[in-house]
Amino acid sequence: MKLFDLSDRVAIVTGGNGGIGLAIAQGFAEAGGKIALIGRNESKGAEALASLATPEKLFLSFDLSSADACRRMVNAVLKRFGRIDILVNNAGIAIRKAPQDYSEREWHDVLETNLSSAFFCSQAAYPAMKQQGGGKIINIGSMMSLFGAPFAVAYAASKGGMVQLTKALATAWALDNIQVNAILPGWIDTDLTARARAEVPGLNEQVLARTPAGRWGKPQDLAGAAIFLASAASDFVTGAAFPVDGGYSARA
Ligand code: NDP
Repeated sequence: MKLFDLSDRVAIVTGGNGGIGLAIAQGFAEAGGKIALIGRNESKGAEALASLATPEKLFLSFDLSSADACRRMVNAVLKRFGRIDILVNNAGIAIRKAPQDYSEREWHDVLETNLSSAFFCSQAAYPAMKQQGGGKIINIGSMMSLFGAPFAVAYAASKGGMVQLTKALATAWALDNIQVNAILPGWIDTDLTARARAEVPGLNEQVLARTPAGRWGKPQDLAGAAIFLASAASDFVTGAAFPVDGGYSARA
């Protein structure tokens, strides 16, 4: 058995049509996986799909902020590939404003997209994983799973929730041979953070000063940890949350 081989493993990557999700999907494809990319934007989806080094791939356009959409998405992937080995819950949004200025809708949008979708996609994938004899779920958290920020109340709540969701699912499904882990990215250069850099004065300088590696991460920096958590190499690892952050969370 090759520890990091993903040959014929079927992976769903939500929010896989750009940024961190796409880089993880590209890593999975290079390791031999079959890939289902999920997102809302179809033109980004088509471009992302073309960049994957596997003929076994599809893009599905879904807004995953409802439980029903998560179920329909999982059924569509099962219809195409017949199994689900890996689920990466990566779709996410951020709304940057002071807590007192949040509307009810904004709060729910962030929580439903970032946290509820991870739960409902996992719940929908569970029967297939159990029936197959196992699976891997990877939840994408954040430095805001660990730290607060004045402009990110809903985002931080959702990402803190991702770590507890990870631990709860890991304990519930360990005997089904389903490992559930989280990756906590540091500050990574993507569309999401390009907007944050534009909207939050001084953010770029703060990130560079605080990150021991002295740089922003690249989406590709997340692929190695994701392949580890998706492969047989991590079969006795469950309920863990791994920072991939250039040392950001290690610094006082
Ligand atoms: P992007 O904005 O590039 O990616 C976000 C992805 O989520 C897009 O592919 C988007 O697809 C998808 N998405 C958003 N809302 C929905 C929805 N309702 N239904 C389906 N898909 C949706 O940003 P990143 O790559 O940076 O972010 C990916 C993940 O990594 C997020 O969970 C983010 O919180 C997390 N993260 C990012 C960090 C960073 O520094 N960049 C740091 C820590 C965590 P579409 O465009 O089609 O809507």
